[in-house]
Amino acid sequence: MKDQFDYDLFVIGAGSGGVRAARMAASKGKKVALAEERYLGGTCVNVGCVPKKLFVYASQFPEQFHSSQGFGWSQSSQPTFDWATLRDNKTTEIQRLNSIYESLIDNSGADLFDGRATVLGPNSVAVNGMTYSAKVILVATGGWPFIPDFPGCEHAISSNEMFFLDELPATAVVVGGGYIAVEFAGILNGLGVDTHLVYRGANLLKSFDREMSDKITAGMQEKGVKLHLNTQITSVEKEAGLFNVNTDRGETISSGLVLYATGRIANTSGLGLENTQIELRKDGSIPVDGHFCTTEPSVYALGDVIDRVQLTPVAIQEAMVLVDHLYGRGEAKIDYDNIPTAVFCQPEFGTVGLSEEAAIESYADIAVYTSDFKPMLQTLGGGNDRITMKLIVDKASDKVVGCHMVGEHAAEIIQGMGIAIKAGATKADFDATVGIHPSAAEEFVTMREPTR
Ligand code: NDP
Repeated sequence: MKDQFDYDLFVIGAGSGGVRAARMAASKGKKVALAEERYLGGTCVNVGCVPKKLFVYASQFPEQFHSSQGFGWSQSSQPTFDWATLRDNKTTEIQRLNSIYESLIDNSGADLFDGRATVLGPNSVAVNGMTYSAKVILVATGGWPFIPDFPGCEHAISSNEMFFLDELPATAVVVGGGYIAVEFAGILNGLGVDTHLVYRGANLLKSFDREMSDKITAGMQEKGVKLHLNTQITSVEKEAGLFNVNTDRGETISSGLVLYATGRIANTSGLGLENTQIELRKDGSIPVDGHFCTTEPSVYALGDVIDRVQLTPVAIQEAMVLVDHLYGRGEAKIDYDNIPTAVFCQPEFGTVGLSEEAAIESYADIAVYTSDFKPMLQTLGGGNDRITMKLIVDKASDKVVGCHMVGEHAAEIIQGMGIAIKAGATKADFDATVGIHPSAAEEFVTMREPTR
């Protein structure tokens, strides 16, 4: 009997979540379409995690050149940096990843549409002038940078443009105090740009453990980022090829670039969701239930567009849970607690579980273990970097409920700590684990006396 629908699943958006859902559903024998108007791999691959990390690597070389001297290395001339080489090599690498994504989708058997899809109704999608019916529509259109409206906002750029700058400016102003602002402030500063970070609040990375965000703030300043806290931009004016950035503290910063990293909003505008029963939240994001179903029973949504946790690995896990729900055993679950995450600021930050502030709210009695030391590299290499580690323990159960690290390799180290904490490890389990010597990570299993 001929199926009543053209597709079992029509996925809109080929980012991390959309591609995973399309491939998994196709591997289960479902007829799948995937439409993408911009770039395969979405924000993460094209204008997010991947190129950002490449830029972070690039920005760390000056410190490494410096450290190498204490180990006996010398350079016959001062190293120089060419932005165009970095930018273009990055673009070539991203193009390579785009084509890998294309073959993965092709090989899965899903039909890939290169165009903007719009929802015409609960089971109907239009793309490239054609209309297709689908039993299920999945909206995985991600997010888009938000820049507030203010005098001169047209001069501000978002993280999207940072990856394709014609040239690096001598001075840059970065606005915001979240992930993207601190990461780009570190990149620009490391690449030799005189970098100002302007944040309206008192504490950068305010949703994280305060002691750790204070360490990051101090570390960034130590490396040369000029911080302007409790400061709002009032206007930006263009003058002789530069931007005069005016603040509510009466300062004017003359800058070649103004980057706004002031959050990302769900990418739902013009998607045709008004042709369904879906009512968007005020910020444009899509509310979904525990199975990622919207208020329109045939339309699902996941990833940044539902604005739960804006992280690539979360979108991928959501996709796997959804496909299992739709076409599998319905046993897969996603747990939003204890999601490890890293901020690739400089110094780097890795974290899983509760901040000390949140643990105090959640538990009657906690013990906090901290360690702060100089990385071994710096004994000969010089430099003022430090490593700070912190464990937060619920005294009643002895469970480690928070684990945080600021300093080199924090992201790599916290991934393993994430498994321990997800598995419910106690402080006694940490203590019974043999350290790897000499490493920074061993400090996590040798903190014996609580700090408080
Ligand atoms: P965040 O939500 O992390 O931070 C936004 C920042 O902008 C906040 O400091 C906020 O201030 C400030 N802000 C918001 N509105 C205004 C305004 N009108 N004027 C001045 N400042 C304002 O967003 P990001 O853009 O940094 O990143 C978006 C998301 O992307 C992150 O939350 C994260 O989930 C994800 N991401 C993850 C990365 C990783 O895993 N390493 C890297 C990059 C992004 P206030 O604090 O006062 O509200």
